[in-house]
Amino acid sequence: MKHHPLPRYQEIHPHIYRIILPLFDDKPGPVNAYLFTGESPVLVDTGTRKTAGMLERALGELGLSFSHIRMVVLTHGHIDHYGAARKIVEGSGGNALVAAHKEDRSLIERGLEVPRARFIRYFRLMGVPNVFQFSLIFIRAVFSSMADNCRVDKFLSDGEKIMLGDYGATVISTPGHTRGSICLYLEKEGFIFPGDHLLSHITPNAFVMLEADFDLPRRMSQVEYYDSLRRVEELSPRKAFPAHGDPIDDVPGTIAMYRDQFRQRQEGICLILGRGELTAYQIARGLFPEIGGIRLAFEIYLMISEVYTHLQVLQREGEVKSYRNKGVLYFMKS
Ligand SMILES: [Zn+2]
Repeated sequence: MKHHPLPRYQEIHPHIYRIILPLFDDKPGPVNAYLFTGESPVLVDTGTRKTAGMLERALGELGLSFSHIRMVVLTHGHIDHYGAARKIVEGSGGNALVAAHKEDRSLIERGLEVPRARFIRYFRLMGVPNVFQFSLIFIRAVFSSMADNCRVDKFLSDGEKIMLGDYGATVISTPGHTRGSICLYLEKEGFIFPGDHLLSHITPNAFVMLEADFDLPRRMSQVEYYDSLRRVEELSPRKAFPAHGDPIDDVPGTIAMYRDQFRQRQEGICLILGRGELTAYQIARGLFPEIGGIRLAFEIYLMISEVYTHLQVLQREGEVKSYRNKGVLYFMKS
């Protein structure tokens, strides 16, 4: 048997364990899987496929194995959250159900929200030079090495009550980071497990929501993200246990900080647009001048996504307008 190193783990509350699994870089940092023990053990998020062995070793320290897991709840369909789900299901002899929001089904089951050709058209619209098309292939290759796609057995919807081990939890639909992002709220304890919707050390991204049949996304990720932040605020959780980083004690303060950073981002974009008509790619290069070389190839999708989703908001607010010329979108100040 292969010997896997033991990850750091800690009991954050009786019968709830935070298992800290390594990820490839310092942003967003190691991923937290949360294990709820008891009669029917449940895992919330899994880490990547690469750390499945480590995860099982942590379970072993607690007298469990994948065969004991009855449900894997995925906070959303990103590789570092669902990557080991299939290995867990296989290790459970098929007894573990995989549960997630319906809107992230395609990400979890196929690893893509829309066909690849769609990404290429979107890149063109954003003014990304053709040479970066290879970065989509590169990112895809890295992603598929880190995650097994996995069937979703149970769709979770907003307001649904589920059991996480010994604890009753409510599913809160919080689209923004992805379409199907959910938070799990333990009302009695005042705990929320927000996945990547709240992070302690960095501001979460509201990824662009591409659509198979439309050139430009109709959904506004940033607007949905703001609305979802408000939903969490209304619950006033005592403590949040995010999927990356340490627990958050001051949820309202953290959300206020995000709002501040979003505002600064939008101001930055408007400042750059003072130079004239620009594509999302040109704005992104201006906004993140420190990112170049191979890092640029890897982060280009993220950079464009961040710029474009803010441009959507600025456009809705009447600050920015755009026009299309030969399949490329240009933005300017109103
Ligand atoms: Zn994520």
